[in-house]
Amino acid sequence: MNPSVINSASIELFKNNLQGPLLVPGENGYDEARSVWNGMIDRRPALIVCCESVHDVIASVHFANENGLVISIKGGGHGVAGKAVCENGLMIDLSKMNSVSVDPEAQTARVGPGAKLGDLDKKKLKNIIYLQLEG
Ligand SMILES: Cc1cc2nc3c(=O)[nH]c(=O)nc-3n(C[C@H](O)[C@H](O)[C@H](O)COP(=O)(O)OP(=O)(O)OC[C@H]3O[C@@H](n4cnc5c(N)ncnc54)[C@H](O)[C@@H]3O)c2cc1C
Repeated sequence: MNPSVINSASIELFKNNLQGPLLVPGENGYDEARSVWNGMIDRRPALIVCCESVHDVIASVHFANENGLVISIKGGGHGVAGKAVCENGLMIDLSKMNSVSVDPEAQTARVGPGAKLGDLDKKKLKNIIYLQLEG
């Protein structure tokens, strides 16, 4: 479905149900959110959800499916082909979900889907033998 024909009331309802911001073209933060490591990628999603929780991810998938929108997922934005950013669809931006929690006893770390190596470095991981992706 063309996003321009989605009922604005249903977009508003969706927005109000999210914990993170919903960005549309022209809005503050929109260009930053759609940018990825490969600067040649210049696609413009119709909607970007800056997810703060698993709830936001689930709500985004439901909204996209109900409205026939293409979905793309942005984790770290380092995929060279730029598949994290769709044209005219709904981008699920996971970059705010970058938590890293370490259990030194079990030698494990739980890592959010938006975490980059820098987020791991900040925790000064020592002797970690197992990383578990959260969500
Ligand atoms: C400078 C640089 C250094 C790197 N060094 C390494 C390295 O040392 N070791 C290594 O292994 N790799 C390395 N890479 C590669 C990079 O880590 C991988 O491409 C990694 O998978 C990127 O993850 P991301 O979360 O940043 O993906 P993103 O760019 O955020 O992309 C999201 C992913 O989701 C997928 N996706 C998007 N939409 C959908 C959908 N609707 N359904 C299903 N899937 C979807 C995309 O195809 C993509 O794989 C490097 C890349 C760069 C640019």
